[in-house]
Amino acid sequence: MTRPQHAPLVQFPVVDDSLQIGGVPLARLAARVGQTPFYAYDRGALSARVAELRRHLPPAIALHYAMKANPMPAVVQHMAGLVDGIDVASGGELRVALDTGVAPCDISFAGPGKGDAELASAVAAGVVLNLESAAEMERVAAIGARLGVRPQVAVRVNPDFELKSSGMKMGGGPKQFGVDAELVPALLARLGALPLAFHGFHIFSGSQNLKAAALREAHEKTFALALALAPHAPAPLRTLNIGGGFGIPYFPGEERLDLAAVGAGLAEMLPAVHAALPGARVVVELGRYLVGEAGVYVSRVIERKESRGRVYLVTDGGLHHHLSASGNFGQVIRKNYPVVIGNRVRGGERETASVVGPLCTPLDLLGDQMELALAGPGDLVAVLQSGAYGLSASPGGFLGHPAAAEVLVGPRAGRSGAAS
Ligand SMILES: *Cc1c(COP(=O)(O)O)cnc(C)c1O
Repeated sequence: MTRPQHAPLVQFPVVDDSLQIGGVPLARLAARVGQTPFYAYDRGALSARVAELRRHLPPAIALHYAMKANPMPAVVQHMAGLVDGIDVASGGELRVALDTGVAPCDISFAGPGKGDAELASAVAAGVVLNLESAAEMERVAAIGARLGVRPQVAVRVNPDFELKSSGMKMGGGPKQFGVDAELVPALLARLGALPLAFHGFHIFSGSQNLKAAALREAHEKTFALALALAPHAPAPLRTLNIGGGFGIPYFPGEERLDLAAVGAGLAEMLPAVHAALPGARVVVELGRYLVGEAGVYVSRVIERKESRGRVYLVTDGGLHHHLSASGNFGQVIRKNYPVVIGNRVRGGERETASVVGPLCTPLDLLGDQMELALAGPGDLVAVLQSGAYGLSASPGGFLGHPAAAEVLVGPRAGRSGAAS
């Protein structure tokens, strides 16, 4: 029996047995960052991913970046130049998105429990608020009246189905997200009586899905739901955000999403949608699919330790910077992210070792008994597939270790000059 392997990863070339990020060998990049641990994101890989999506999705589909996947301002700025809009989930993200210069009407703000101050800045900025409840709708209307601005709103619908084989279900059944589909007609009637500008619907059913057939089914159900709700709307739909949920392979045995099949499915469905909802722009919002594979988390081996026959590479990085690689960000069963010794990818000798961090908890595990090049103090451990839900999704204050650095590397398209 062969053990399941990680899906082949080709976004970072290996030259002279060293990982290259943004065209720079990893050890050189570590020297230029000036510290470990750090996250590095590759501009070229981000651009290539958007281009791949544009190739496979129908041209009528608008592409939004859900920036909670990676809110580093330089990354958001780069993405802003490539996508059609940005989805934010807090007032803090809203400020970063507005700083990019993306038109406010192409920024949408979703999330339960939006505070009055966040709502007021969103209304003042003119971004589209995805309403999560009837109570929020009333608050938005009151804030708009106080500011003398007509708020731009969409209704987030909690669908009556879920995205099958999804890593994280975000719709179906009782949820804190969105308005239950069966309550939407009454809410829309009230919306029409308030001084609000109606944009459309936001229907997000799940996340981290690697199965094109499951996404196809979700898209069919999403369009059917939108078409059923549209006659109740106070104005024609201008946008229909069908969520995203495109997954990336993290763990051994996982296979890449068949993007061509997803695109073909959407191409089949779109004509009927456009006929029923002329003027509605269909939006797909993606987080990890856009940025997850373009990032790497790099830590340095402090010590190579053996304990009762097992090898531990003790590094300066850990779950305080990368909770999801440790298996503690919503995973039910812990599995290994792809990990390599970045400055010695193949190596001479190889061995089975675990990669741990400096925290006083057995949860601080970045790689559990993985086959790696033989490594020792000073070597660099690279955790791949780390561009999404990394630093900002980790408990940085836990145990008081230094923060990780973040860099965006690689040349801008069409410019010459130093690679980093
Ligand atoms: C988190 C989130 C996303 C992004 O999810 P990914 O799995 O990173 O693509 C998209 N839309 C909404 C509403 C979200 O909350």
